[in-house]
Amino acid sequence: MTAEPPGQDRDLPLDAHLHTNLSPDSDVPIDVYAELAVDRGIAELAITDHVDFAPGLQAYRYSSFEDRERTVREAAERWVDRGVAIRFGCELTYGSRYEDDVRDHLRRHRYDFTIGSVHDEPDSVYAPQNVAAWCSGRPLSEIVKPYFDEVTAAARSGLFDTIGHLDYVKRYVYPNVTPAQLSEAPELYEPILRALVESGTALEVNTSGLRQPPAETYPAEPVVARFRAMGGRAVTTGSDAHRAEALAFGLEAGYRVASNAGFRSLAFRRGAERLHVPLPERFQT
Ligand SMILES: [Zn+2]
Ligand SMILES: [Zn+2]
Repeated sequence: MTAEPPGQDRDLPLDAHLHTNLSPDSDVPIDVYAELAVDRGIAELAITDHVDFAPGLQAYRYSSFEDRERTVREAAERWVDRGVAIRFGCELTYGSRYEDDVRDHLRRHRYDFTIGSVHDEPDSVYAPQNVAAWCSGRPLSEIVKPYFDEVTAAARSGLFDTIGHLDYVKRYVYPNVTPAQLSEAPELYEPILRALVESGTALEVNTSGLRQPPAETYPAEPVVARFRAMGGRAVTTGSDAHRAEALAFGLEAGYRVASNAGFRSLAFRRGAERLHVPLPERFQT
């Protein structure tokens, strides 16, 4: 880590998870991120606004593919000569019961880069009004099972370039279950990690957890190291910013997690081009 305050990480090649005002839970215009990225030397941004398929979820029919694509591609043209590359991605909420809808969407629409994530639904066991009762008296394996089973199915589907914040359940169950309790049960992660390896899907090191109560990345370093040991060869990293000040937040820490786990580059896709973006020199140790 450098002396830079959190949120001010600079001179980094890629923030691969960002939300703009094309998502229902963000009001940041794309140009605000682009300007900040130029100021801070963040070379490349993936705009990954939410795409939801279940009517109860916030982004269901929120912005059309055409609006999102036009807005991001036009911004990319405005900024390409000013030192920041902008890619058109998305974060699709995955649910096994609507996997066919996700597949159909991805068949019909072309993105540079796709993140598949499992999110809480309004009436789920992890909803604020249900979570304490759900966590009470159950073993940890059962508490996380509904979430982890869906993440495993998302990884197995092979539909996505990467799986976003794969233990975001850490946030939902906090403080009924702490990150330390989860870290003592690495075996709970193995089905997910195996599915990622077998489907060739990347694992995301999502740094939003560093600014939320769990105070560690989603997932934490031991899980990333386990993924590597099991044969995982592709990680991505993103701040998951929904606000301007969160651009690149904790990204250095995320790069460090990847580096400590044995990765020397970040997996990425720019449309037809699959590539590995080398971690900066200072992370190569
Ligand atoms: Zn998400
Ligand atoms: Zn996100």
